[in-house]
Amino acid sequence: LDPVSFTNESKAVVDFIADYYENIEKYPVQSTVEPGYLSARLPESAPYCPESLEDILKDVNDCIVPGLTHWQSPNFFAYFQANASTAGFLGEMLCSGFNVVGFNWISSPAATELESIVVDWMGKLLKLPSSFLFAGTGGGVLHGSTCEAAVCVLAAARDKALKELGGWEHITKLAVYASDQTHFTFQKAAKLVGIPPSNFRLIKTTFSTGFAMSPETVRSAVEDDIKSGLVPLFLCATIGTTPTGAVDPIAELGKVAMEFKAWLHIDAAYAGSACICPELRHHLDGVELSNSISMNPHKWFLTNMDCCCLWIKEPHLLTDSLSSDPEYLKNNASKTKSVVDYKDWQIALSRRFRALKLWIVIRRHGLANLMYHIRSDIAMAKHFEALVRKDGRFEIVMPRKFSLVCFRLKPTAAAEAEDDGRELNSKLVEAINSSGRAFMSHAVAGGVYVIRCAIGSTLTQQHHVDALWKLVQEKAQSLLTNHSI
Ligand code: PLP
Repeated sequence: LDPVSFTNESKAVVDFIADYYENIEKYPVQSTVEPGYLSARLPESAPYCPESLEDILKDVNDCIVPGLTHWQSPNFFAYFQANASTAGFLGEMLCSGFNVVGFNWISSPAATELESIVVDWMGKLLKLPSSFLFAGTGGGVLHGSTCEAAVCVLAAARDKALKELGGWEHITKLAVYASDQTHFTFQKAAKLVGIPPSNFRLIKTTFSTGFAMSPETVRSAVEDDIKSGLVPLFLCATIGTTPTGAVDPIAELGKVAMEFKAWLHIDAAYAGSACICPELRHHLDGVELSNSISMNPHKWFLTNMDCCCLWIKEPHLLTDSLSSDPEYLKNNASKTKSVVDYKDWQIALSRRFRALKLWIVIRRHGLANLMYHIRSDIAMAKHFEALVRKDGRFEIVMPRKFSLVCFRLKPTAAAEAEDDGRELNSKLVEAINSSGRAFMSHAVAGGVYVIRCAIGSTLTQQHHVDALWKLVQEKAQSLLTNHSI
């Protein structure tokens, strides 16, 4: 790595990215390419001789950009946002620049120590009890995704339970509980750690509880399972579910989990960030009853991909399950047990220096601007919700809690009888997305098809939300005019 060409070439890439952001609104938000488009544009095999950066950037522009769905577009309202920010980007640059692999303390003490400090900072911003912090009796780690965090805490819970039950042969008795709104990643994680899929209970949610998991329903599922010889292992509660942004009642669920000695995990992947605001912190009330909690700063906390915080009350349960001690990694610091070796808190050995970007994001924005960021997205979501309510042809289907608005075109009697308005609303989403002017997604909850307007792209301003609503109205109008209902 030659510092001179590094400086020149990275400047060219930074200029390219700045230009991309300058022009981002000119691209169709959802890519319009057909499957396989890229192999028709790129050579069949790798080059023998080096190519110029200029040629490569030209291909990025001509071949890659058309195949991007523009997550950073201010008109991206489809999935939960993947916030990018200058601070997050600078942190990623430093992470790549140093390119250290802090799998244990000696492999890069700063990487380990900054991570422990920054997860404590983040935990304090969320007002987590000290039982989750290194400053107290717990600790935290940065993973790449909630899925990885889920696999790790499930493995820890599994091994603790199997030790108490007397060995691996009891694994078929372990049962996991989540709701029908819980992210699918927990089902995948349970399968990966060997829980029989038939022991995964999806607790049904309904409109009456706003799609939150009912503690009574969990209790009766657990009691039924115990009667048939199963052992309740793990309960996953969510703050801000993916389909509709629902919040599970963690204090009540915590009591049920404690009564039956099940591990309670809180998945706050999306909405956890919002809990830094005092007026939204109540969603975490009861967190002290849980065993672990995770949230993704790479969603709503201005931290570029990837970054998931996981806190755990008893870190030794994680390390009991995940630690390994090969000869080539033995060292004095690890032997003293006075240092954190993050390889024992995750699946892989290698790891990125993610703490740098979260640290820089927090320092460059400060709590004040981070709260402003969350509040302005919520204000825009409230504004969109008010626009929907004003138009009698539409309805808000679920109560909004954060910056996700779930709405639909009210089905006519005929459409309701036919399919509860599903086809009508899915055509509306398709018409919006194929316009290239915005990108939205959908969910089905309680059998009802809803359109998801997830506000939170870093560049979105109120005029984008107003333009989105005009687009929705325009497409709805033409659909209702042409629809034979
Ligand atoms: N949990 C919730 C509530 C989510 O909304 C998501 C993704 O949107 C996930 C988990 C999955 O997160 P990851 O992609 O980090 O595994």
